[in-house]
Amino acid sequence: MTKVVIIGAGHAGGSAAAFLRQYGLEGDIVLAGEEAAPPYQRPPLSKAWLKGEADLDALLLRPESFYAEHRIDFRRSVTAVSIDAEAKSVAFADGAREAYDILILATGSTARKLPVPGGDHPELLELRTLRDAERLKAVLGPGKRLAVVGGGYVGLEAAASARALGAQAVVIEREPRVLARVASQTLSDFFTARHRAEGVDIRTGVEVTAVASHGVTLADGSEIAADAVLIGIGAVACDALAISAGLACDNGVVVDEQARTTDPAIFAIGDMTRRPIPALGGVSWRLESVPNALEQAKQAAAAIVGRPAPAPEAPWFWSDQYDLKLQIAGLPLNADRQIVRGDPGTSTFAVFHLSGARIVCVEAVNAPPEFMAGKQLIGKHAAVDPARLADPSVSMKSVAA
Ligand SMILES: Cc1cc2nc3c(=O)[nH]c(=O)nc-3n(C[C@H](O)[C@H](O)[C@H](O)COP(=O)(O)OP(=O)(O)OC[C@H]3O[C@@H](n4cnc5c(N)ncnc54)[C@H](O)[C@@H]3O)c2cc1C
Repeated sequence: MTKVVIIGAGHAGGSAAAFLRQYGLEGDIVLAGEEAAPPYQRPPLSKAWLKGEADLDALLLRPESFYAEHRIDFRRSVTAVSIDAEAKSVAFADGAREAYDILILATGSTARKLPVPGGDHPELLELRTLRDAERLKAVLGPGKRLAVVGGGYVGLEAAASARALGAQAVVIEREPRVLARVASQTLSDFFTARHRAEGVDIRTGVEVTAVASHGVTLADGSEIAADAVLIGIGAVACDALAISAGLACDNGVVVDEQARTTDPAIFAIGDMTRRPIPALGGVSWRLESVPNALEQAKQAAAAIVGRPAPAPEAPWFWSDQYDLKLQIAGLPLNADRQIVRGDPGTSTFAVFHLSGARIVCVEAVNAPPEFMAGKQLIGKHAAVDPARLADPSVSMKSVAA
């Protein structure tokens, strides 16, 4: 019987173990992870959990008892350090070794360090794990001031949650706008305005040159004092193990549409991978999202048990800030025009990115119908009538050309 070892017990690894059993795998499953908690969801760490609206049980992907009940040998607080691909075995930091028939790597990503003096100070905060979130929560409250370096999704969500807890928040972004790498100008302008209206001090086009636990220094020599500093400048794929196994890596472990690496006995899933996206013409990309982790967990589990591959999905993502639900599908690759449907002034609108007559990305704020229809149209490569798409009185069902 096939023995599957999964390294990394996060969203992708925990889900893969469950799918393998659901799809009928009889052999042993070892699920080994560095963290102390069973697999849990990270999105609430910057949202509901941080604001005190969700407890640990609500974060867990499955109740702790699930793993033993499904003969999944879940091992917590263990770190894999290398892979001997020839011998098909994994070595752990405590000296133990585990043999495998099939290995699934699901080691995720880690917070990028700020490359300036003080950037490695142990009191700096980052937000990747439950432990990180506990440290952050402990410093938020009335009378406290949080400085967030980086105006990406995690930084903005943390700032919104800090405001909800009564703390002041300042967001420091090097680019001329927040969300510069991941969203349209329309969306950046909209979120900047809303955060400022909520009392967040957003500073863009500002370079941090040094950092300490209680503030940052900017390129013009000025200082921003804070009770705590959160670094939120993106995440880096954890590919050290994959490199030790000799797998092809290129800003993430290179995998195919079934999550196979260049070694037939090793799969890789989740944030750590660079994967093809069939809905976008097969372009290869490193996605960091829960839907991606789930889709690749299904791909790997299906391939291992010999089931047909799941139907490919358009990539998608969400972010919650204040009462705003942002949902994004696709990627704005090769887009040559943008169409805004609805009025950002009403906080309900969508930005469509088109390449020719095809939608390649939709950014929807409090607009689930636009998101759902846009996601489907991206998946189908369907052409749309731009004039009808721009007109909110025309139903999304009838915008296809
Ligand atoms: C604060 C925050 C908010 C987010 N919000 C959203 C959101 O709103 N929507 C969305 O779609 N996505 C969101 N994401 C992203 C989403 O959580 C990730 O894409 C998802 O968790 C990826 O799953 P993964 O299993 O690949 O990685 P992870 O969930 O990071 O799991 C990887 C696990 O592997 C372990 N590991 C690493 N190296 C080793 C090793 N050598 N040995 C053993 N174990 C190891 C790690 O400790 C970790 O537990 C958010 C992420 C964060 C941090």
